[in-house]
Amino acid sequence: MIPNIEKASKAEIKAFQEGQLKLLLSYLNKHSVFYKRMFKKHNIDINNIITLEDLTKIPTTSKDDLQQYNDDFICVPKKEIIDYVTTSGTLGEPVTYVLNNNDLDRLAYNEFISFACAGINQDDTIQLMTTMDRKFMAGLAYFLGARKLGSGIIRVGNGIPELQWDSILKFKPTYIIAVPSFLLKLIKYAHQNNIDINASGIKGAICIGESLRNDDFSLNLLAAKIKSNWKINLYSTYASTEMNTAFTECEQQQGGHHHPELIIVEILNDQNKPVKEGETGELTITSIGVEAMPLLRFKTGDIVRAHSEKCQCGRNTMRLGPILGRKKQMIKYKGTTLYPPAMQNVLNHFNNIDSYIIEIYQNEIGTDEILLKISVSRPSNSLLQEVKDHFRAKLRVLPKIEFHDKNEIQKLQFPKLSRKPIVVIDKRTL
Ligand SMILES: [Zn+2]
Repeated sequence: MIPNIEKASKAEIKAFQEGQLKLLLSYLNKHSVFYKRMFKKHNIDINNIITLEDLTKIPTTSKDDLQQYNDDFICVPKKEIIDYVTTSGTLGEPVTYVLNNNDLDRLAYNEFISFACAGINQDDTIQLMTTMDRKFMAGLAYFLGARKLGSGIIRVGNGIPELQWDSILKFKPTYIIAVPSFLLKLIKYAHQNNIDINASGIKGAICIGESLRNDDFSLNLLAAKIKSNWKINLYSTYASTEMNTAFTECEQQQGGHHHPELIIVEILNDQNKPVKEGETGELTITSIGVEAMPLLRFKTGDIVRAHSEKCQCGRNTMRLGPILGRKKQMIKYKGTTLYPPAMQNVLNHFNNIDSYIIEIYQNEIGTDEILLKISVSRPSNSLLQEVKDHFRAKLRVLPKIEFHDKNEIQKLQFPKLSRKPIVVIDKRTL
């Protein structure tokens, strides 16, 4: 199942997208408070934006804009809104993202063609190992996509290897959707409990949140570790709430395919200019067909490389390589995007926490880890539990938390030559 436009020539795809861009601009000019204001402020006549290259005449939209003017992005009346999603914002407070009925259909179509891209069909059963609720978009998208495709779906949710294996052995799914580092936990549990993982009937895993490949598409450390134990196909899928769209690998596993019906892609340098073909830059997207909260030139913060040669699978669309890095201090943690200020927000909630340091580092498989070193006057298990509960409630993820001596934290906060206290120590190499 390949949409016709994905097999069309590059010129046809571009012409199609330019037609869609025209529709989007007039839609925004009518319904979006934020973009109407932006067009006016920058004297932009939308009739002069005709080609994809003309997009550079329009300022980019940042995650800060989304946070600061959140409601101004909503283009439909409240009674039309069906699903409410939140994502962590750059400034601490969560950003709300909303979808109407049409957007949910679009989301289902997006995941339907993404699953089909990875070779899943209606004979397959998928075990979903990500969160369905808690205002996340991804789990819902997978469910809707599976339904449209006609494949079975088992919504186990994230974590708990024992529960996952019980379900795999009982329902015999053929695919799983999971954060790749969690697959290592499944392997470990299977080894400890005499489960023959290679007889489980799982053919492949759709992996979110963490990259599987190096820049040249060879397996990274994490994926190699999984594959050396478990003989399954690993397909990378890359998506975000703001994009409302996934880039999923086909059987060739040479990057996530762009679906031109759903999104316009630009790869920009630090001056917001498109990079030369094949160079790395920040992924910047314009959504197509979104009604409730369409975004124009939204900068994702992810550093990627695009590949434009025709793919062996028959698709002629651009492919995105693995996420190579992130702008500033974006943290990809357990499948969620997180920024330090959001954690500071949580910590600052506690009056009895004297000081803290947020350490970000990469573990031995190259994924992000967070260690919060906090100092309190009277450490106790109940306080630790309270902090942990608050993290789960506010951010839905739980970093490592340790109590440290006040003097030690202060030394970290005020290294020599530093005038401002340091809160975040980023030890990552990327
Ligand atoms: Zn392909």
